[in-house]
Amino acid sequence: MRIVRTKSRLREALRPARRDGRSIGLVPTMGSLHDGHLALVRAALGRCDVVVISLFVNPAQFGPGEDLDAYPRDERRDAEVAERAGVDVLYAPAVEDVYSDGFSTSVEVAGDLTGVLEGAPDQRGPAHFRGVATLVAKLLNSVAPDVAFFGQKDAQQAIVVRRMVHDLDFPVRIEVLPTVREPDGLAMSSRNAYLGAEERRRAASLSRALRAAQEAVDGGETRVEAALAAAGAELERAGVKPEYLEARDAESLAPANSFNGRPILVAVAARFGEARLIDNLVIGG
Ligand code: AMP
Repeated sequence: MRIVRTKSRLREALRPARRDGRSIGLVPTMGSLHDGHLALVRAALGRCDVVVISLFVNPAQFGPGEDLDAYPRDERRDAEVAERAGVDVLYAPAVEDVYSDGFSTSVEVAGDLTGVLEGAPDQRGPAHFRGVATLVAKLLNSVAPDVAFFGQKDAQQAIVVRRMVHDLDFPVRIEVLPTVREPDGLAMSSRNAYLGAEERRRAASLSRALRAAQEAVDGGETRVEAALAAAGAELERAGVKPEYLEARDAESLAPANSFNGRPILVAVAARFGEARLIDNLVIGG
């Protein structure tokens, strides 16, 4: 596996593959790799000839007071994990290489997709997805992959990236892979490392809550409030007050009126001590 830190080295590393017409897959991450990331890597290895993983904790997508400084970083371990998994190129740029002096351009996907859920003003705010879209655009330009792999764990991010790629004609296919979970249902996340034992136990209520909504709908419930109430009751039993718990159209992110067979994204965020965790489930469709 080659480790590269600059765009020019990255291009150099990928030149032979590009010349020979081999397909390139990109897995963008913030590092601190876990099995969720590795599922994306495995999918990339299965579908592409050459796999690039990027490790970059993107300051632009963290708001003031968020966990940018505390975010777990262990590049040496990540490099070992990536190499063992079969990754060909690890791209770990410095902040200065990504955001050079005078950097003043950003990519903004409009508010219908980015001003709700995670991007709502009282959550991470609109700057969050501006930071995500700008970085993903830069990575797509730097790597120029045939396919880029994202996780359903960050459902809204995947929707925003798809929109941007479509609107700006990026010649790349976006693949979104299912959320990888711990045995008790907790979605794998680098931020799970923040959890103390008691918080870790309570955090499992997020996926239980989503399953409760799913079961309500499976049982014939079509009303959004009733299905969300079933989810909310599960959180309450664990003493968890969500930052949001919402049902939205899984494509447009418009508020859902009912569970009517169309895919509905049920999304939840909650704090457990230092950790702000998110999870979601698509019901129907
Ligand atoms: P992150 O390093 O958290 O920014 O995640 C990098 C990529 O891995 C994103 O596309 C995430 O959606 C994806 N990802 C993170 N956690 C999981 C998970 N538990 N299952 C599947 N994909 C995940």
